[in-house]
Amino acid sequence: MNEDRSDEPLARPVRFARGVGEQRAALLARMNIFTIGHLLLTLPRRYEDRRTFRTIASLRKDDFVTIEAVFERGRWSQAKFGSGRFEADFRDDTGVIRCHWYNARWMQDVFKAGEKMLLFGKVTFFRDMPCMNHPEIERLSEEGDESIHTGRIVPVYPLTESLPQRAMRRILWNAVEQYAPLAPESMPAEIRERRALPQISDALREVHFPESLASARVARERLAFEEFLCMQYVLVARKAKAAQVAKANPVHPAGKFRERFLASLPFRLTNAQKRVLEEIRADMARPAPMHRLLQGDVGSGKTVVSACALLDTIETGAQGAVMAPTEILAAQHFRTFSNYLKPLGIRCDMLKGELKENEKISARAAIADGRTQLIVGTHALIQDRVAFKNLGLIVIDEQHKFGVEQRGTLYDKGTYPDVLVMSATPIPRTLAMTLYGDLDVSVIDEMPAGRQQITTRVVGEAQLEKAYDFIRGQIKQGRQAYLVYPLVNESDLLELKSATEMFDDLRMTAFAGLRLGLLHGQLKAEQKESVMQKFRAGELDILVATTVVEVGVDVANATVMLVENAERFGLAQLHQLRGRIGRGAHKSYCILQGHPKGKDSWRRLKVMEETSDGFKIAEEDFRIRGMGNLLGKEQSGVPLLRVADPLADIALLEGARQEAIALVAADPQFGKPAYEPLRRRARALFRETGGYIKVG
Ligand code: ADP
Ligand code: MG
Repeated sequence: MNEDRSDEPLARPVRFARGVGEQRAALLARMNIFTIGHLLLTLPRRYEDRRTFRTIASLRKDDFVTIEAVFERGRWSQAKFGSGRFEADFRDDTGVIRCHWYNARWMQDVFKAGEKMLLFGKVTFFRDMPCMNHPEIERLSEEGDESIHTGRIVPVYPLTESLPQRAMRRILWNAVEQYAPLAPESMPAEIRERRALPQISDALREVHFPESLASARVARERLAFEEFLCMQYVLVARKAKAAQVAKANPVHPAGKFRERFLASLPFRLTNAQKRVLEEIRADMARPAPMHRLLQGDVGSGKTVVSACALLDTIETGAQGAVMAPTEILAAQHFRTFSNYLKPLGIRCDMLKGELKENEKISARAAIADGRTQLIVGTHALIQDRVAFKNLGLIVIDEQHKFGVEQRGTLYDKGTYPDVLVMSATPIPRTLAMTLYGDLDVSVIDEMPAGRQQITTRVVGEAQLEKAYDFIRGQIKQGRQAYLVYPLVNESDLLELKSATEMFDDLRMTAFAGLRLGLLHGQLKAEQKESVMQKFRAGELDILVATTVVEVGVDVANATVMLVENAERFGLAQLHQLRGRIGRGAHKSYCILQGHPKGKDSWRRLKVMEETSDGFKIAEEDFRIRGMGNLLGKEQSGVPLLRVADPLADIALLEGARQEAIALVAADPQFGKPAYEPLRRRARALFRETGGYIKVG
């Protein structure tokens, strides 16, 4: 089938939209908007009812309002330490409102006297004067398109730098006019009727320029439902297809490798580990391939379990593969699995991104002819289409980087290995369904006995010197420390500490005479590896790092972690970070430096003092900050879900899953023409996003 869809208007590059040229296309790209279809799915973050404006005299405390008023005068008042505020008065026929912008000196140059503005914000009162702090502003224009911006329910879009609200609104207006009628309907008619969903073209119009807020909500639901349906259809179909295939060799090992391995360990498996291992072994013995998610908190012992499964596979003469999201983590796994497997005479190799071409060729040859029994690498292992002699089991360590499609490419290669996905992120059930709807789930819900509790303290900036003291004390006792910072480089925008800056600073001051190393994501893989190597070997006392140490780094002698500007991190992320310590015999300490004045963030950090339960921490994080933070900020790319949010839209998600199951049952051969538009849309979505799911 010809998959070229360039004839489809919504697949056109966004620069072809009216009002968007090369320059604005570049701005939009920052918001992951690359096509006209993406543009149409960039939904308003809220609406303003501008059918009538409020008068200043009618304002009451705590109202959220839009008012239309003329700028009168403004002044900057300087406070100490470079801070200050810009104060401006605006007037309508009924009165004056005073607006404040803190630490925004440039606001002085924004307004011209006599200019009419729209102001949106929350009303407060000072004495009897109505005020707004940091209202959103919009300049009324002379361009004759006022009917787009006023006299209706108006969309307010998420923006990127130097793209004003009005320009964005005008772009969307034009795009909706021209392209919404051309949007292909991909939802099967039966589903649309059953669920009373509007047509795609109506939904696109109503979601941007609605007749009423109610119709905007219905339109949004239709678009969210469609995203969920596409995604669940792919996952359900994949699971159905996988259940139909027979793998080459159901795994029935005698278990001699596994037993020797377990006997060599200095500990016994926990009951939870034993249980999930039985689930996995039963799955691998079946004729259809295993597709299983192994969930467990950091340090719960997933790796050991996966090693058992790999040993069973290898014993039957098949090969195993381990994939990790980063090179650091892959290197870590390579060391761990080599330690576990080599004593049993099993050959382990690693495929690195930075191997020389001839090294790559010989590594591939060893994989292709079966000499390599276990191969460890990054996700590039699948993307590069490495040829295996007989791949039996793939272990994917996703940590918290999700990629639905990457799993898909495994099954699409024509071989049907068993697949075990490991995840340390405690995922609410709904999100698990979204991300792993095609997998069965095993959970390790018990920590190995005797795990020492990490002592966690939240401190203010004033206590940093004491924290440094404490770290020096630990190092004197032969221990090592992590210092974690939110940024790599100095940022003059934010008053945040960066790893590089602090590295330069601390080795001359607080930690003069000690051995410091610097680790961040912008280093080359070999530089990272060499720093890690030194830290592991005890040749460094302190590792100054960004969140690249978050996953997989395993140095038992490290007993202190200090995270500065800890309020910049999500709790789930701090939990991952904290998982780097407490891995050895020595008592471990985690110090989180926050700002006591940021009351919410302080309270949030305090959760870390109270619990070490990853599920509780993640729940708290969702509750306080929404879902996006679970995944960390480094996720970027074309997102699969632009409109839908698996947590907020749980009912839609469940409905979409039911519909997807019904669709697959009604058409198990995937040939029904009525479903072809949905299949096209789903395929296109997965192809362009690589299954990357943006959440929150
Ligand atoms: P995860 O992959 O879930 O983060 P690992 O498998 O890396 O956990 O295990 C973390 C640490 O705990 C490792 O040092 C491992 O040797 C140890 N470990 C694993 N299982 C047990 C157990 N049952 N008892 C004691 N220690 C264990
Ligand atoms: Mg691990």
